[in-house]
This record gives sequence, C-alpha cells and structure tokens, in this order.
Amino acid sequence: MTSFWRPAYVAIGSNLNHPQARVHEAFERLAALPATRSVLRSRLYNTRPMGPQDQPYFVNAAAGLLTQLTARELLEVLLGIETAMGRNRKERWGPRVIDLDLVWMPGETIDEPGLTVPHPGVSTRNFVLYPLADIAPTLAIPGHGNVLELLHRAGDDGISVLEQHKSF
Ligand code: AMP
Repeated sequence: MTSFWRPAYVAIGSNLNHPQARVHEAFERLAALPATRSVLRSRLYNTRPMGPQDQPYFVNAAAGLLTQLTARELLEVLLGIETAMGRNRKERWGPRVIDLDLVWMPGETIDEPGLTVPHPGVSTRNFVLYPLADIAPTLAIPGHGNVLELLHRAGDDGISVLEQHKSF
C-alpha cells in the first residue's frame, strides 16, 4: 500500500447469471475495496463474445478508481472479487460470471508472470475501449496510444449500448 492515491482503470465483463446485475454487483464491490474509492462508472454495453461464439453476448463496463493499493495488490483484490462472485477458470475465452481486468494504472508499467500492465488486450478490444472512453477518453496508455484513437481504430463491430448513465 502507498501513502498516495492514484487512478486505476478496471474493465468489467460478464455473460452468465444475469450479466447486467453482475456488472452492477462488481461496481458495488469495487466501491467497497479497502484503501480505494470508486470515482467513475461507464455505461453498460452488450458485446459479441471474443473466441468461441457458442456462448451468450457479454455485458461490459469500466470503472475509474482512486486507490492507495499497488497494481499487484489491486490485482489480488480483483481476483478475490472474481472468486467471491463464483468465477471458476476453465475455458480460455469461455463464458464467465465476472471478469475483472486491471487495464491501466499510471506509473505501474509491469510485465511479470501473472501481471501485465497496461493490459495487453486493451489496444484492440472494442469491448474494453468503448466503456473506457466513457470515463477516460483522453487517457494515454503507454505503448498503445490515446483511448479515443484506439477506439476509432478498433471500430464498433459487435457492440451496442445496453444502459445509459442513470446519474452523476
Ligand atoms: P483472465 O482469465 O483473462 O481473467 O486472466 C486472469 C489472469 O490474468 C490472472 O490470473 C492474472 O494473473 C493475469 N493477468 C495478467 N495481467 C493482468 C491484468 N492487467 N489484469 C487482470 N489479470 C491479469
């Protein structure tokens, strides 16, 4: 844990067990993390699954946090939320009740076993970039580019807005 607060951007996805409700549950659980405040929530999106197509569409969103945790500590608590919500890791790119990825945390460029930051999928996955653009359109992700530029490159194939912001 650090004595200072830093932004952290988390991608959320679910395609099992009432995905829209699971994404809201994930927002709430992120807001309750120790030494962490939830600052921004994106809209919710319906998105075509990556990989095997014989699974339901996903609901995706993104959260903007401020945290005193390090990236490694944040990853641990994200994995804890996944476990608490009943995630079991079987099939790569298979259906999942919840998926939480640490997309980017300024000052935490990491390439270690079990933790890569920025998340390597961020630059090409429109289901990460659209939600991220709701909360951080001008964010520059080192080694990848600016969120809005990446989003325009990735395109809007297979993605639609499911739920608008209710309030700010
Ligand atoms: P997945 O099945 O896609 O959720 O992958 C989860 C695994 O990816 C975790 O066990 C992490 O150790 C690893 N991982 C590496 N980098 C990240 C990251 N930036 N965010 C989340 N998980 C990561």
